[in-house]
Amino acid sequence: MLRIGLTGGIGSGKSEAARCFSNLGIPLIDSDRISRDLVAPGQPALQQILDHFGTGVITTEGELNREALRQKVMQDSESRQWLEQLLHPLIRQRREELISQIEAPYVVLEIPLLLESGLQELVDRILVVDVPESLQVERTQQRSGLNEAEVRAVMEQQASRQQRLNAADDLIDNSGSREQLEQQVQLLHERYRELARSSC
Ligand code: ADP
Repeated sequence: MLRIGLTGGIGSGKSEAARCFSNLGIPLIDSDRISRDLVAPGQPALQQILDHFGTGVITTEGELNREALRQKVMQDSESRQWLEQLLHPLIRQRREELISQIEAPYVVLEIPLLLESGLQELVDRILVVDVPESLQVERTQQRSGLNEAEVRAVMEQQASRQQRLNAADDLIDNSGSREQLEQQVQLLHERYRELARSSC
């Protein structure tokens, strides 16, 4: 099955684009969702995180305190590596399990940090959702209530717009309206179905 890796910077419109594919009946696999599910209460990975980092990273309800964990790994690269070595193989395994259950001409894998995590090999095509940085900041602020400096700090941690453009096999220009986004997804959908047909 053809694998499309959907990526883009924060606020570029990945989720919005993913929804458009989903509306066309195409299965979606959301990496963020997989990693959230893996650390839900009762999951072995959550216990391992608790053993490693202590109770400071768990809320009183027994859930992972993402912000506390983020602070810890930001300050300490060894901890970050430890966490990645725990979660990445589990995410990969879960992703493959989900893919093996799917029957469709192609699947969209929404992977925000596809380039940053070096996951290019995982997909057949890289689809980048692109907007100018100013719009990325504006839309992220509207959605999240973060201030501009906070949004820019996240953007600094991500691949640059140019790096994403260089890596893209396909591109969605999401600087226009939602309708324009939908139209582009529709065209890509036809193209991917065609590619899937010719590759089997
Ligand atoms: P990402 O998943 O890449 O972080 P989202 O899909 O959540 O980005 O989009 C960021 C914000 O911008 C959301 O509030 C979304 O509804 C809005 N948005 C996305 N695309 C458009 C568009 N074409 N026009 C207007 N708002 C948009």
